[in-house]
Amino acid sequence: MTATNANSPYVTPPDSEQIPRFAGLTTFARLPREDQVDHVDVGVLGIPFDSGVSYRPGARFGPSATREASRLLQSYNQFQGVSPFETLQVADLGDVTANPFNIEEALTAIEEAASRHMAAGTRLISIGGDHTIALPLLRAVNQQHGPVALLHFDAHLDTWDTYFGAPFTHGTPFLRAHEEGLLLRDRLTHIGTRAQLHHPDDLVRDENIGFGIISTIDVADQGVPRIVERLRARIGNAPVYVSIDIDVLDPSHAPGTGTPETGGLLSRELMQILRGLANLNIVGADVVEVAPAYDWAQITATAAASLVYELICLFALDATNKTKGQ
Ligand code: MN
Ligand code: MN
Repeated sequence: MTATNANSPYVTPPDSEQIPRFAGLTTFARLPREDQVDHVDVGVLGIPFDSGVSYRPGARFGPSATREASRLLQSYNQFQGVSPFETLQVADLGDVTANPFNIEEALTAIEEAASRHMAAGTRLISIGGDHTIALPLLRAVNQQHGPVALLHFDAHLDTWDTYFGAPFTHGTPFLRAHEEGLLLRDRLTHIGTRAQLHHPDDLVRDENIGFGIISTIDVADQGVPRIVERLRARIGNAPVYVSIDIDVLDPSHAPGTGTPETGGLLSRELMQILRGLANLNIVGADVVEVAPAYDWAQITATAAASLVYELICLFALDATNKTKGQ
């Protein structure tokens, strides 16, 4: 199904005028599998794990749903002026096997898989899975880059301490990451925050970690260009990890998720913010919390696939500019 494009040294998705996009076995964007290429510059890694959820389960089916929706993607991003699959070797790395009955064992497996790929020079975009998986991914990123800045797109803070006494849940990854020294204080931002809190102290704990908050109201009031300026100023040239909980989108744009919250970002706003991150030092990313059992007509999975595509394009732009010596 995959092809070598005459204009590109890379193994690319097949020409959609030769093989229709709805035919053949599914990989992300019909990209080659890891075993069909000799190296992978950017890898899409599925992490079908949702044993850390607090409300509606089902994000374990997020990777397969996102891959299925990604069949529609085409090669050229007209807004970024880049053909990512002809700029880098992008491939589908398959799924991590994560124990659904033992969270800590699953976290170890995810960290080991991510570390192995990163040590081979692959930049990772992970598809969840619930947000618990951000913690082992940040551990792996730290092995290569040390503490990192964080852009966290989410309706929720995800800096809670424990839930029913459990330390590793989808509501706690960024407090654990802070405690483990994985984050660069003062370079941490939540975007799209809007959910109700357990207690006002939740905000105090969050601020003490070093997070700034850009709420959905801030995005509406200030506009995307100003928000992009603020994000870029806060991150600077630090290595930055981008974590996107699909519930950052309004439920009308992403109904298929475990903890939907009214009043979210439009998919257009989120795409525009991501495009504004070009040429930051992005060292890894994830798109999490897609739960297709609650989805309608692939709305959520289609959004997730497009977000993964925009992230791939950011890596491709970075490579293009490095080639030009910028
Ligand atoms: Mn959330
Ligand atoms: Mn989350």
